[in-house]
Amino acid sequence: MNLLLRAVGWSGLYVFLVLLPLLAALWSAPPGGRGFVHELGVAAGFVALAMLALEFALIARLRAVAQPFGIDALQGFHRGLGFAALGFALAHPLLLLADGMAARGFDPFAGPVALRPGAAAFWLLLALVATTLWRRRLRLSYEAWLALHRWAALLLLAGALWHVFLVEGRSGAPLMRALWSVYALLVVALVLQHRLGAMLRAWRRPWQVVENRPERGDARTLVVEPVGHRGFDFEPGQFAWLLTGRTPFSAQQHPITFAGSAEQGASRRLAFTIKALGDWSREVVPRLAPGARLWLDGPHGVFTPEREPAIGLLLIGGGVGITPMRAILLTMRDRGDRRPVLLLHAASSPERMTFREEFEALAREIALTYVPVAEDAPAGWTGERGRIDHALLARHLPPQRAHWQCFVCGPPPMLDAMERLLPACGFPAARVHTERFATV
Ligand SMILES: Cc1cc2nc3c(=O)[nH]c(=O)nc-3n(C[C@H](O)[C@H](O)[C@H](O)COP(=O)(O)OP(=O)(O)OC[C@H]3O[C@@H](n4cnc5c(N)ncnc54)[C@H](O)[C@@H]3O)c2cc1C
Repeated sequence: MNLLLRAVGWSGLYVFLVLLPLLAALWSAPPGGRGFVHELGVAAGFVALAMLALEFALIARLRAVAQPFGIDALQGFHRGLGFAALGFALAHPLLLLADGMAARGFDPFAGPVALRPGAAAFWLLLALVATTLWRRRLRLSYEAWLALHRWAALLLLAGALWHVFLVEGRSGAPLMRALWSVYALLVVALVLQHRLGAMLRAWRRPWQVVENRPERGDARTLVVEPVGHRGFDFEPGQFAWLLTGRTPFSAQQHPITFAGSAEQGASRRLAFTIKALGDWSREVVPRLAPGARLWLDGPHGVFTPEREPAIGLLLIGGGVGITPMRAILLTMRDRGDRRPVLLLHAASSPERMTFREEFEALAREIALTYVPVAEDAPAGWTGERGRIDHALLARHLPPQRAHWQCFVCGPPPMLDAMERLLPACGFPAARVHTERFATV
């Protein structure tokens, strides 16, 4: 089945599962009804609850679901649909309030008993969204935010389900109780798969560091090899979660792109290049000395030219977003791929251009045109200066670009600019693929 059909299929299933509780409620509604506003409020609550339960499916790293969309797109859906669920969750008590519910219903400690867990879930949801929106302002580390997010999500879902069971228990609708039990079991299965399944698989297949070297641009390249197994295959542009805690179950899990060739050779070694950005990359990564044990959960991701037919490739990498481009180019070299490639490599200065010398050497081995672009460069610099803009693209894009594929990875402002500029320069938007390294 092609990827588009699969994407449509998964999206259809999502919509069906969101609406299913409404259909079931219609089916099992007692005769008479409770008034339009009341029913609308209940419906909003059901949609919110189904959407919140399905949020777990979007981040459970399920390969079959991720394949047509990409894990980063699923994380984007998780975020966007989380806000949509918040809208329905807000509408639920507000409509009931308009229908005569006492304001005490918002009190998780002193409200009516059947409403208390729902009220607790409501406030937890608001806290969860606020800490996501303002994580940096609240000075929460990513790890602290993630732990909070996970626990708050589980607790709020438990509270919301408990509230539905108490209310439905009173109105006595066995079909609804059975349906919500299935949703609860689905969440438990997704959490187990996400937190246990993948980690148990990783645990059986340890890796060890064989090299940890510094690179230009405040980065380090880790080379790892499998211990007692054959490792795994990947496609250039994909990534793995590096699990560098004491066990794979630790919270220390970071998504990092494969930086080496997908043609791994007999050693089955993998390379990752990591820029020093925060506590993990600054403090933990430099200390991973040869012999250190770690685990990998991968490969994941769809940011790979292997999925797209093209007669040539435009690669645009900014900062550490250059890592997938290195994997793509090394793989092309090792596979004897002679298609033309244009690499636009942006960095603040030539000194901070990770892999610059390697790309200059690769340009002599494959059909690569390498264009380094430094925002600030000393006199005598022969590359481009400034940022990648319309004029720079117009100077370098090939005439046959409509049949090329473009891959862009870098800081969010650069991705936004490229998504705007490339179609304006005659590069079809459907052929522009982006990868965002930041999650929240
Ligand atoms: C698909 C993908 C591929 C990536 N590939 C690379 C790569 O090849 N090289 C590289 O240097 N960086 C890569 N990153 C970014 C990398 O994961 C973060 O820079 C790294 O986790 C920073 O962690 P920290 O604790 O040092 O910094 P922090 O200051 O804690 O984090 C900086 C930012 O990184 C993100 N981040 C942090 N921890 C995680 C986590 N556990 N899971 C998801 N996002 C997190 C958050 O957006 C955070 O704001 C990639 C990210 C994604 C999503």
